[in-house]
Amino acid sequence: MAKIQAIRGMNDILPNQSPLWRYLESTVERVLGQYAYSEIRLPIVEKTELFKRSIGEVTDIVEKEMYTFNDRNDESLTLRPEGTAGCVRAGEEHGLLFNQVQRLWYKGPMFRYEKPQKGRYRQFHQIGVETFGMAGADSDAEVILLSARLWKELGLLEHVTLQLNSLGSNEARGRYRDALVSYLDAHHDQLDDDSKRRVKSNPLRVLDSKEPLTQQLLQDAPVLTDYLDDDSRQHFAELRQVLDAAGVRYEVNPRLVRGLDYYCKTVFEWVTDRLGSQGTVCAGGRYDGLVKQLGGRPTPAVGFAMGVERLVLMLEALDLVPEQLRRPLDLYLAAESKGLQPHIIRLAEQLRDAVPGLRLMSHCSGLKNVNNKARQTGAPWVVLLSETDGALQLRVWENDQPLDGLASEELVELLKARFRC
Ligand code: ATP
Ligand code: MG
Repeated sequence: MAKIQAIRGMNDILPNQSPLWRYLESTVERVLGQYAYSEIRLPIVEKTELFKRSIGEVTDIVEKEMYTFNDRNDESLTLRPEGTAGCVRAGEEHGLLFNQVQRLWYKGPMFRYEKPQKGRYRQFHQIGVETFGMAGADSDAEVILLSARLWKELGLLEHVTLQLNSLGSNEARGRYRDALVSYLDAHHDQLDDDSKRRVKSNPLRVLDSKEPLTQQLLQDAPVLTDYLDDDSRQHFAELRQVLDAAGVRYEVNPRLVRGLDYYCKTVFEWVTDRLGSQGTVCAGGRYDGLVKQLGGRPTPAVGFAMGVERLVLMLEALDLVPEQLRRPLDLYLAAESKGLQPHIIRLAEQLRDAVPGLRLMSHCSGLKNVNNKARQTGAPWVVLLSETDGALQLRVWENDQPLDGLASEELVELLKARFRC
């Protein structure tokens, strides 16, 4: 019978990969802690209506990428394609948003029906932050500084570029949309098919086209920056001032639009040239209208989400994986005969008590080729317990160098010193 395989674009994260994931996640969590953000855990499935109303009916995500199904009660549900909508839903439902300031973060799998390729999957993971109740450009700057600090911690800062734009108010964007549509209509024949469709459904998305001819045509198109309202212009200038003062480098990209309808004013992306065409590792912006759009009171908000797989790929490609993660095991402990197995278990537990940082594996079940197995684990420390004339004896190797004649108390002291506890 044929074996059942995983769904295309939905990956297993295997034991040899998970240490890197945990390293990334714990680094992000540490940095989020430095900014006093609180974690929120959200369901993976929400009512389909939530995503339609927030992300927008005529976006790629809602039109083409959602995993939507009817449950047994005939209600339309969707596997979440992103985290912001669910976060706003939960915040409203539990009274966290009205008249309050919130700094929240979440992590977990997201689902989009896309063409799987390197850096683009159907189940992928995001870590996102969402802040509520702060309208000032200093809060946009805070989330950007937080992300910049994270890249610094991970050693990625010099390999990513911050792209920044302002989308302005709804009205300003409406005026710009009209101007852009007139321009694109006048050059209709030169557009690629996807862009022809987008001129009608969601014209700003044409700016995002990857087609070289369309990009060329866009060189002379009206620029969003020229249509900004005064408030957004001021907000953008303030944001730039804070970033300049903090020494964060960025490029203003007037063609940066996001694939989700709820953004206004600031939008940004951190991009890298290390991942081919899947170069955006983190993206976000301000969405002051979304809470109201979902039935709440007007609440300013700004946030971003980073793609965990793409960051993992970057850390691997740049060889930035910390040395200790390559070696999941510190010490391998084995007995030379079956009768000594209870001593091994006791010694292993003693060592775990005395040296909590030690990653120790003891040999269980079957005593063949103990030496070989110990070598294969790659553990720098190997301890073998044997018995000579009724006396227990430890044989210890550190990186293949024998350290003979150690009593178990001496071994504990040595390991404590090595693993600093
Ligand atoms: P892209 O332009 O690459 O399709 P997007 O604009 O659809 O990205 P967002 O919805 O803003 O992406 O999601 C934020 C981040 O999540 C992206 O910058 C990316 O790092 C990651 N991401 C989005 N879609 C995928 C996917 N299908 N597979 C892996 N990571 C993804
Ligand atoms: Mg996308």
